[in-house]
Amino acid sequence: MSELALRAEKLDAEDVLAPLRSRFVLDDGVYLDGNSLGALPGHVPDRVQDVVRRQWGELRIRSWDESGWWTAPERIGDRIAPLIGAGPGQIVVGDSTSVNVFKALVAAVRMAGEDRTEILVDATTFPTDGYIAESAARMTGRTLRALSPEEVPAALGDRTAAVLLNHVDYRTGRLHDLPSLTAAVHAAGALVVWDLCHSAGALPVGLDEHGVDLAVGCTYKYLNGGPGSPAYLYVRRDLQPRFDSPLPGWNSHAEPFGMSPSYAPAPGAVRGRVGTPDILSMLALEAALEVWDEAAVSVEAVRAKSLALTDFFLDCVAAYTVPGRVESVTPAAHGERGSQVALRCDDAGEVMKRLIGQGVVGDFRPPDILRFGFTPLYVSFTDVHRAARVLGEVLAE
Ligand SMILES: *Cc1c(COP(=O)(O)O)cnc(C)c1O
Repeated sequence: MSELALRAEKLDAEDVLAPLRSRFVLDDGVYLDGNSLGALPGHVPDRVQDVVRRQWGELRIRSWDESGWWTAPERIGDRIAPLIGAGPGQIVVGDSTSVNVFKALVAAVRMAGEDRTEILVDATTFPTDGYIAESAARMTGRTLRALSPEEVPAALGDRTAAVLLNHVDYRTGRLHDLPSLTAAVHAAGALVVWDLCHSAGALPVGLDEHGVDLAVGCTYKYLNGGPGSPAYLYVRRDLQPRFDSPLPGWNSHAEPFGMSPSYAPAPGAVRGRVGTPDILSMLALEAALEVWDEAAVSVEAVRAKSLALTDFFLDCVAAYTVPGRVESVTPAAHGERGSQVALRCDDAGEVMKRLIGQGVVGDFRPPDILRFGFTPLYVSFTDVHRAARVLGEVLAE
């Protein structure tokens, strides 16, 4: 056995999260695409079955109350809260990330006040966030400036209304400095909206600790909520009374069943709701989050394993690949790395097809990026070793 294969076995033997792997439905391949769609926790299908057959099929309308459907958005928000460093009562689950980016950014601009005329957006952002920022700027009569997160501190000023940033860059896997960027935005008197899609469930976020204003994120990546599972919206407690949603709906009304023609927002996180929640997806997500209840699981343990996995992958790639054949675009420094490794090579599309053909599933982001996501709850060091070995073979073809 090679030295790296032995190291993989040793790291697996020492891994406190290793028992979690059996809670997921996996095949005999290597799944490194949990940053796009998390794997299925094995107990979720039975729960969904119960929700459909009993809660819906038998209890029908009674389930809004008796099965806790009505309060699910805040209840599940409070389940996600400790994973991103938030106290209870500040997160509501529902709608997509895209919709929540819109709510959060427009609300941030409204809170910033009329004399603040500019929105800054992370130029490397996931396209949807950029499209929505453009529309939010047009709708609120602000100008929009796109720039890299490193350029944000110098661009801030007394005209800045709000800044929309990604915690981890979805292409390169770069982790941005949330504490210092948040502090810089606040020093300029503006508000910050963080998109946590690629960090929640993979590393500590510390929303309350760092005084973040608003945050959004999806639940089908590292939180394994299932395809299209609803996103979440965080509004810091002291901002909630001023949160003026651009999408006020009957679900966020102070008296939803008062059926009043005039709108009066509910207090608290409920204010971030819009319409009827997608209960089937939401309760699948609630079940999926139960894997975080196991004693061994903490965000700190997940982060430690995530860094060990990506370090080990980079070591194995270096050992099994001709120098220069691929180039890592993910920062080497731990403080700047999310839970993925992105490798650049000219024939990335073809390489990924072959990898998937051999059971190693990552993804391809045009024009030249091979993306590998490492979900610490179910990826083993042996998986990582095998993925790098197969990658080395495919690259040598
Ligand atoms: C995955 C992702 C999204 C997805 O948005 P949806 O509305 O769920 O399609 C948005 N932003 C970022 C940064 C993402 O990584």
